[in-house]
Amino acid sequence: MKQKNNPISRLHRFVASILLLSLTLVPMQRSVAQDGGTMTFIRDAEIEHYLRALSTPIFRAADLDPKAVSLLLIQNSEINAFVAGGINIFFYTGLLQVTDTPEQLQGVIAHETGHIAGGHLARGSQAMRHASAQAIIGMLAGLAAGIASGKGEVAIGAIGGAQEIAQRNLMRYSREQESFADTAALRFLDSIGQSAKGMLEFMKKLAGQDILPIDRQIEYVRTHPLSQDRVNNIEHHLQSRPELANKTLGAAVLLMHERMKAKLLGYLQPETALLRYTDKDPRLPARYARAIALYRTSQLPRALAVVETLLKEEPENPFFIELKAQMLFENGRVSEAITLYQKTVDLVPDSALLRVAYAHALLESKKDGVLDQVIAHLTEANRLEERNGQTWRFLAAAWTRKAELTKSPHDQGLVSYALAEEAISNGQDKEAGQYAARALRTLSKGSPYWLKAQDIKLNVEHNRND
Ligand SMILES: [Zn+2]
Repeated sequence: MKQKNNPISRLHRFVASILLLSLTLVPMQRSVAQDGGTMTFIRDAEIEHYLRALSTPIFRAADLDPKAVSLLLIQNSEINAFVAGGINIFFYTGLLQVTDTPEQLQGVIAHETGHIAGGHLARGSQAMRHASAQAIIGMLAGLAAGIASGKGEVAIGAIGGAQEIAQRNLMRYSREQESFADTAALRFLDSIGQSAKGMLEFMKKLAGQDILPIDRQIEYVRTHPLSQDRVNNIEHHLQSRPELANKTLGAAVLLMHERMKAKLLGYLQPETALLRYTDKDPRLPARYARAIALYRTSQLPRALAVVETLLKEEPENPFFIELKAQMLFENGRVSEAITLYQKTVDLVPDSALLRVAYAHALLESKKDGVLDQVIAHLTEANRLEERNGQTWRFLAAAWTRKAELTKSPHDQGLVSYALAEEAISNGQDKEAGQYAARALRTLSKGSPYWLKAQDIKLNVEHNRND
């Protein structure tokens, strides 16, 4: 496997795999108890698409390959964003919800990219090499718990090895690192012709937070220490670029931002969304939040009625279609959902998430005739996005059904191979090795999947001996 020689990629793929356990912004899997809450990763095609749109120009300005940077969402009402485990930017949903404009959010992304450019986390990567998905979530949770209890240092002292280093990395940037990240961020914004006004606004929003006792500060301020110097620097920079002062990302991007916030509110705080957006509010983001909140509070007929108003306005919006498909699918209306999911894949062929959702719905139709189609979509999803444990689980299910029909040992071997890939994605090396060995016994020797199964087996053995 091609990640073999890259110390970061192991972590990378584990992190990626946790996220993949769910498709849309339904509270997903992989929660780890922490002080007073859970740490949950979420996936959503629309929000990820938006974050990509904001960050891609910044990554290019920083000479980073945009594809090499993972953008990960953590469901958490705290405000924070940070870089961890190599080039992964983590965003708390609380931060996304508290930004008022796309320019503010882009400022945060530029700053985090500054930390990547500064290599501020490089020293953790070697130790993180063996961190499993569970360990990463555990250390994030442990970190939050440690800080929340005001015993961050104690919590760190109690944890050894990779976790300790990772936690220290996540813990708190130095003032020098903050200054470096700001300077880099300003340079990136300059080079894409964007104003630093959003960055300044976001920082001012946090100002005042730094004078609170540390255990009451929001996480972003604890991890990224604020100072008047930082504010002054950005203000100074802004004044030196009068031509950019009122530059914005434009109305279309603002709309994406509003929709992201509406979606997060509808999913994560449906009761609040229903109070904030009454049926008298005709604005599109309000109706979007309301449709999602109604669905999340089990009011399907009303939710569908609101979705119809969205679709009437934007019949080709893949995310509105996806929402309707999800509502129908989760309420047992599988064949209607399939038609809609198919449309989303036609509209956004390069979205792995939409393809997996479509394949899942097809699988649930329990029709043998769709199996080859399911396998084709999942294989394409794997090509678009590596290391998605859920994709492999569905592939194992599809190949199991196929093997029952064909009675072919090779097809049975494919099931073992898919389970090996799923285990790798979930950080379960031992199980992966066992499934790979089983796959090698039944797959046709020398066939492409036989070679992949052998790669997994060798890789697992190699890692064990490290
Ligand atoms: Zn910072």
